[in-house]
Amino acid sequence: MSDQNFDIVVLGGGSGGYAAALRASQLGFTVAMIEKDKVGGTCLHRGCIPTKALLHSAEVADVSRESAKYGVTNTFGGIDIAAVTAYREGIVSSKFKGLEGLVKARGITTIPGEGRLTSPTTVQVGDDTITGKKIVLATGSYSRTLPGLEIGGRVITSEQALALDFVPKKVVILGGGVIGVEFASVWKSFGADVTIVEALPHLVPNEDEAISKQFERAFRKRGIAFNLGTRFSGVTQDENGVVVTLEDGKTFDGELLLVAVGRGPATQGLGFEEAGVTVDRGFVITNDRLETSVPGVYAVGDIVPGLQLAHRGFQQGIFVAEEIAGLNPQVVLDVNIPKVTYSDPEVASVGLTEAKAAEKYGADKITAYDYNLAGNGKSHIIGTTGSVKVVRVNDGPVIGIHMIGARVGELIGEGQLIVNWEAYPEDVASLIHAHPTQNEALGEAHLALAGKPLHAI
Ligand SMILES: Cc1cc2nc3c(=O)[nH]c(=O)nc-3n(C[C@H](O)[C@H](O)[C@H](O)COP(=O)(O)OP(=O)(O)OC[C@H]3O[C@@H](n4cnc5c(N)ncnc54)[C@H](O)[C@@H]3O)c2cc1C
Repeated sequence: MSDQNFDIVVLGGGSGGYAAALRASQLGFTVAMIEKDKVGGTCLHRGCIPTKALLHSAEVADVSRESAKYGVTNTFGGIDIAAVTAYREGIVSSKFKGLEGLVKARGITTIPGEGRLTSPTTVQVGDDTITGKKIVLATGSYSRTLPGLEIGGRVITSEQALALDFVPKKVVILGGGVIGVEFASVWKSFGADVTIVEALPHLVPNEDEAISKQFERAFRKRGIAFNLGTRFSGVTQDENGVVVTLEDGKTFDGELLLVAVGRGPATQGLGFEEAGVTVDRGFVITNDRLETSVPGVYAVGDIVPGLQLAHRGFQQGIFVAEEIAGLNPQVVLDVNIPKVTYSDPEVASVGLTEAKAAEKYGADKITAYDYNLAGNGKSHIIGTTGSVKVVRVNDGPVIGIHMIGARVGELIGEGQLIVNWEAYPEDVASLIHAHPTQNEALGEAHLALAGKPLHAI
C-alpha cells in the first residue's frame, strides 16, 4: 500500500489519455497515467491502426487482381491470413514500442492496473492511492450491441473480427457506419460474400447525402450487398451459421454476424458518479473547456459525447493539459473535426453537409460545387472515380468539404485547414496545387466557386 502524489493523474492510456499525459509532461507537470491493459488503447491495439493495416492488405489484393489493366502480369494467388496477421501485428507492436519509449522518455509514471475515482483528487489502484491536483478521465469505449442481441459464438464485434484466423465465406454486417463498411470492404476484397444491414436510409449515414449515394453505387458495383431502412429484429445461430431477421421479416444468412452499431462509453463502476461527476447515459458531461461537474476533474476522448475519433482524443488531451497550464487553448467544434472512412472507396469530410449548411444559413445563402474526379488526371491514372464537394457561404468562407474516391482521406488535411481557417474560395483559388495530384481536385472546386473554373464547365 502506498500513497503517490502528482500534479496530474490520467485515468486511461488511450489516444485521449496519453495525449494529455504527453503534453502535460512537456509543460513541466508531474504526471501519472493509469492503464489496466496496454498504453495506446483501442486505436492502437484494436481500432485505427490494425484495421487500416487490414484495409491496406485488402487494397493490395485488389491491385493484384486488377494488375493486367495496368500492363503488369501477375496471378492473384489468394489471401494468406496468417501473413496478413503477422504484417498487421508487426505494425501494431512497433508503434506500441515507440509509444512506450516516448512515454518513458517524457518522464511519465505509468501505473499498471484498474483505477477507480475515489474523490475529486484521488484514484485507487489496488491498494495504492494515487493523488493528483487535477484528474483527467480517459477510460474510452467498448463495442455496443442492441437490446436482446447477445455477442458470442458466430455473433461478433470488431475485436473478434480483427482476430479471425480465417476469411469468412459469407458475412452479415449489422451497421453501415464507418466500422461496418470498413470491414465490409476488407472482407469483400478478401473474397467474401458480404451483406450490410442498416436501419437508416443510407450507408455512411452521417455524411453528405450525395456522398452516401455515390458510396452506395460504388459498393453495389463491387458486389457488396446492403439492405437499408429496416431495423434488425433477431438472430439465430447454429454450427453452420447465423440467420438474421429484420422487422419486415426479411432474412439474411451467413457464416458470421458482425455487430457494428456504435461504441458505448466505458464509465460504469469506476466511481465517477459517486465522486460527483455528472454522467448521462454513461457519457461524462463536460463544459466546452472539458471540465466535468467537479472542478479540477476533466474528461477527454470517447467518454465525452460527440465524435468518437482518435484525433479528437489527441486534440482534447492536448487541450486539457494546456487548459490546466493556463494557456487558454482554442476550442475546436466537433463539426470542424475531419472524418475519414478508409474503405474502398474512401470518404473524407469536414464541416457542414450541404443540407446542414442550408438549414443553418438558408438555402439561398450558400453555394455547393461538386467537382467530379473524372476531370482529375491523377485520379484517372490510379483508376478511381468520385468527387469533391465544397460548400461555401455566398461571399463568405468555405464551411464544408465532402470527398469520395480512392485516397481522398489524404486530402482532408488541406480540407480541414481551409474550413478551420475560414478561408474563402477566392483565397484557395489563388494558390497552387501541384500537377498531377488528387489535391488539384480541391483546387478546381475552389476555382469554380471563385467563378473561374479551369478544367470544368
Ligand atoms: C474497429 C475500430 C476502428 C477505428 N478506426 C478509427 C480510425 O481509423 N480513426 C480514428 O480516428 N478513430 C478510429 N477508431 C476510434 C478510436 O479508436 C477511438 O476514438 C479512440 O481510441 C478513443 O480514445 P480514448 O482515449 O477515448 O479511449 P481508448 O482508446 O478506448 O482508451 C481508453 C484506455 O483506458 C483504459 N482503461 C479503461 N478503464 C480503465 C480503468 N478503470 N483503469 C485503467 N485503465 C482503464 C483502457 O484499457 C484503454 O486503454 C476506431 C475504433 C474501432 C473500434
